[in-house]
Amino acid sequence: MIKNADRAADDFGNFIELLKIENSSQNSENLLLIGGFHGDEPEGEFILCKMIDELKDAVFNSPYNIYIIPCLNPSGKLKKTRANGNGIDLNRNYPTANFSAISINPHTGNLSAGTPASEKETLALIQWVERIRPQRILSIHSDLHVIDYDGPARELALQMAQDSGYPLVENIGYPTTGSFGTWAGIERCIPLITLETRKAERQEDFEKIYQELRKAVFNFCCLTLK
Ligand SMILES: [Zn+2]
Repeated sequence: MIKNADRAADDFGNFIELLKIENSSQNSENLLLIGGFHGDEPEGEFILCKMIDELKDAVFNSPYNIYIIPCLNPSGKLKKTRANGNGIDLNRNYPTANFSAISINPHTGNLSAGTPASEKETLALIQWVERIRPQRILSIHSDLHVIDYDGPARELALQMAQDSGYPLVENIGYPTTGSFGTWAGIERCIPLITLETRKAERQEDFEKIYQELRKAVFNFCCLTLK
C-alpha cells in the first residue's frame, strides 16, 4: 500500500512529497529513494514514479518499507536549473566537515552552496532521514552514467553495477563538498548509492533508461544484503 507520509514546503510555495510503500510486517526496516536533487535532471523522478507501480506488490513480502521522495527540488524543476529557486546547489548544502560555500562543477559551472543547511529542501531531508533512519539510501542523478557510493555501500554498489551494466566508480572526479553523500554516507555511515543515469536527450530515452536500470533499482529495494 502506498501513502503520503509527509510533505514539506520550499520557499516558493511548492511541496516536496515523501511517499511510503508500506509492507505487511510490523518490524520492518526502512529504505529511502530520492529523485530530483537537481532540477535539470528529470530522469530520477521518472524512474521512481514508474518503479512505484512495480514495488507496490513486491514490497508486501519484503522486509522493507520504501520511502520515496520523487522530487527534492521542485523549484529547480520548474525552472529546469541544477540549483533551486534560490540559486543554491542542494547537493552541496549539507552541514558537513568539508562544507564549502562554492559548489565546484567542471561540467555545469560553479554555483553557490549557500550556508550549511540554509535551504528548506535540505532541512526537510535531514529531518526525514533522522526520523526514518533508513538502512540504505539511493539518490538518483544524471547524467554521468556511473554508480558511485558513500559509506559502507560497496557490496550494494557492486550488485547494482552488475544488475545495470553501469560502471562502478569510487568518486566522480571532482570535489563534492557539503554533499548529501558525505553527510549521510560518510559522516553517518548510512550505506548510500548515488546512481548517475545516462542523459535522456529525447522523450523515448526515459523509457530506455528505466528499462536498463529497472533490475538494479528493484533489487536495491528488495534484496537483503549484509
Ligand atoms: Zn545531480
